[in-house]
Amino acid sequence: MTRSVYPKKPGLANRLLPIEIVVMIAEEEARKKVFEKVQVRPSRSVLLSQALSCFAAEDYFSSLPLPNFDNSAMDGYAVVASSCAPGKKLRVIGEQPAALDRHLRVSAGETIRIFTGAPIPAGADAVVMQEDVVRDENEVVVNISVNPGDFVRRRGCDLAEGQKILAAGERIHPATMALLASQGFAEVMVGGEVDAAIISTGDELVKPGGEIKPGQIYESNSVLLQGLVQRCGGAVRLVEYCPDDRDALTEALKRGIQHDVLVVSGGVSVGEHDLVQATLRSLGAKIDIWRVAIKPGKPFLFARVGDCSVFGLPGNPVSAFVTFLRFVRPAILKMMGASDRELEPAMVAAKVSVDLRNDGDRSHYVRGWFEKGNFSPVGRQESHALFGLSQSNALLRLAVGEARTCGDIVDVQIFD
Ligand code: AMP
Ligand code: MG
Repeated sequence: MTRSVYPKKPGLANRLLPIEIVVMIAEEEARKKVFEKVQVRPSRSVLLSQALSCFAAEDYFSSLPLPNFDNSAMDGYAVVASSCAPGKKLRVIGEQPAALDRHLRVSAGETIRIFTGAPIPAGADAVVMQEDVVRDENEVVVNISVNPGDFVRRRGCDLAEGQKILAAGERIHPATMALLASQGFAEVMVGGEVDAAIISTGDELVKPGGEIKPGQIYESNSVLLQGLVQRCGGAVRLVEYCPDDRDALTEALKRGIQHDVLVVSGGVSVGEHDLVQATLRSLGAKIDIWRVAIKPGKPFLFARVGDCSVFGLPGNPVSAFVTFLRFVRPAILKMMGASDRELEPAMVAAKVSVDLRNDGDRSHYVRGWFEKGNFSPVGRQESHALFGLSQSNALLRLAVGEARTCGDIVDVQIFD
């Protein structure tokens, strides 16, 4: 636990305010706790075409080598290399397309018309590209010298039989799907689906498309969170808006906790209108985490009610975004069967373009733009600053007390 004493802001210290002891959980401790508590969903078999972005539920091994047989890398002529030389005439005795093996045989002085992917006829040990011969009826004149193995793709040169092609917990990409297909798999065992509910809370919120009155704002977190959940591979099954009203919130949360994951935004802080924590408790929730030493995002809450994992994110859009990436995303991935390695964000080395220091008591996620090896902070580094976030593609974490000077090489987390 990280203990910090508030108020800490300069100027407040002289005032006779009671000193509030605020307990914040360290970020890594909070992440560990979330990963321990979430329930990994049972695995299932899906059609290969439905497996994109799922995680393999078991190890997969090749049953066929790649290529599966010696075949031609070009459209051309299958030959015996030693019988070829510039100016040499060869008799065309047949044709082998990329189709069923016709079991043809070629000898010195002969050739077989062949196409890319077609099996190499018996006796042939090379292919001459069609651009390197002159064809005349049933004869070709070879224009080059030929070496054994030229333009022949050897059986097993890419992948041997029995090699591991996919590890349990690994993300399935389009190329992984193609590799599984090349082995004849029509279905694949993957981790379970995570179904998610999203509830935005706040009396000031108006659904986009409606009319806003003074004091009201358009609600933007639900689309942000829907996009983020979908990008992790989760399925959003419920989206609700809820005022800061105990009864309405109770009913909305009751619906939300029917799902594997409930992401609530707003109302998790300490004001009189922040009712999420108390309402969750009244529904029997076990609050595992509240307040994490992270900026933005301190009021982050994690609770469990029955089989539902509840994430309470601060309402400020940048705080909701950062806490989603640090806690909700890896939790959803873990529930979907991801290996520990897959939980980590993509990190790249970057040169910082300005001096930066973190004088606060929480790790600070600076939003910025990464391009061509450079990272520059973007916009106002405040938790409400949605425009700056929308212009960013990377986060730089500054630990408590950490300082960076212009030109330092740092690791940044790419999120777009
Ligand atoms: P809260 O966490 O409820 O104290 O809200 C903190 C700030 O985030 C306030 O300025 C809210 O108006 C804003 N906010 C809360 N929920 C949303 C939302 N769904 N979309 C946009 N802004 C929000
Ligand atoms: Mg609120």
